[in-house]
Amino acid sequence: MTFFSRVVGWSLPLMPPPLVRWAAAPYVAGDEPADALARTAGLNERGLAATLALLGEEIDSRELAVEGTGLYVDLVDQLADRGLDCNVSVKLTLLGLKIERELCRDHLALLVGRAAERGNFVRIDMEDHTCTTATLDLYREILAASRARRAAGGPSGSGAGGDAVGVVLQAYLHRTLADIAALPEGANVRLCKGIYVEPPSVAITDYHKVRRNFLASLEALFDRGAYVGIATHDNYLLRESAAIIERRGLAGDRYEFQMLLGVTENRRDALAAAGHRMRIYVPYGRQWYAYSTRRLRENPRIAGHVARAFFLRTLGGRDW
Ligand SMILES: Cc1cc2nc3c(=O)[nH]c(=O)nc-3n(C[C@H](O)[C@H](O)[C@H](O)COP(=O)(O)OP(=O)(O)OC[C@H]3O[C@@H](n4cnc5c(N)ncnc54)[C@H](O)[C@@H]3O)c2cc1C
Repeated sequence: MTFFSRVVGWSLPLMPPPLVRWAAAPYVAGDEPADALARTAGLNERGLAATLALLGEEIDSRELAVEGTGLYVDLVDQLADRGLDCNVSVKLTLLGLKIERELCRDHLALLVGRAAERGNFVRIDMEDHTCTTATLDLYREILAASRARRAAGGPSGSGAGGDAVGVVLQAYLHRTLADIAALPEGANVRLCKGIYVEPPSVAITDYHKVRRNFLASLEALFDRGAYVGIATHDNYLLRESAAIIERRGLAGDRYEFQMLLGVTENRRDALAAAGHRMRIYVPYGRQWYAYSTRRLRENPRIAGHVARAFFLRTLGGRDW
């Protein structure tokens, strides 16, 4: 991380909201579900799948957890009604994880149940390390319940093997290879580097070692028969992942690539044109300011990207 990125990371959250919003605009679809649905339709027209994420996390009231869950259930219905190629991504703290585990479990069960009924899929985002164990436990619990319902004649989700729920693992955590070994059979996992600033006691801090652990985790996930969402914009990891897929002779029912809205669109389009399934993570909602500033403060590297965008856009540059 450069000195410039650190300075920008520190100062960007102090910028006036309109400026933050302007700089962050390419990363967020808009305030309302209609904005996100319109953006999704546009991505689908270009042959790209999507996953919608309502912004908001770490909420501290039951009312907000109930409201957030209801908004997600509505979203699943709207996606099905419009026939969009799009699932949803959710943070468990938005469903009440930090308020009460059982409340969060009930909300997640409701959402995953609706996703199965509507032939869709819920991806549980991974938050900071204080949430990892609870998130993986809830994933296993809800997946088992959902599979049991399916075995008894209940509905199937749109995930590989008919599952309606999947989870995320972060390559920077020391524990990730052990977590992979403890995954249920046929798990559906998004693999990413990890965005939160974590202490060295829980996370690898060296950039190249994180890359190595990403590839080791990818191999371990494939060894265990998982369906993997390979979530990165890192050219090196994209190349190496594609090589692993080719060497193993994997078909499109074992993996997809995933990228964030507005990031490295050339790489995204090139992978899709080469025949790989590509899914775009589309965040939306009124909590964009808190989300953007927190991300910038947590990870100044991203702030560097935003600052670069700011200058390039000011200068009329396009592809950043
Ligand atoms: C679909 C998706 C879902 C994710 N879900 C989670 C999650 O649940 N939990 C979690 O902790 N993390 C999540 N992440 C974030 C992830 O952990 C990384 O922090 C993030 O993707 C950056 O890492 P990278 O692999 O792209 O590599 P980097 O080394 O950070 O980036 C590689 C290159 O990509 C480009 N780039 C990356 N980010 C940006 C940007 N914002 N703007 C412009 N260019 C950029 C730059 O060219 C950069 O050099 C997700 C990422 C994606 C793509």
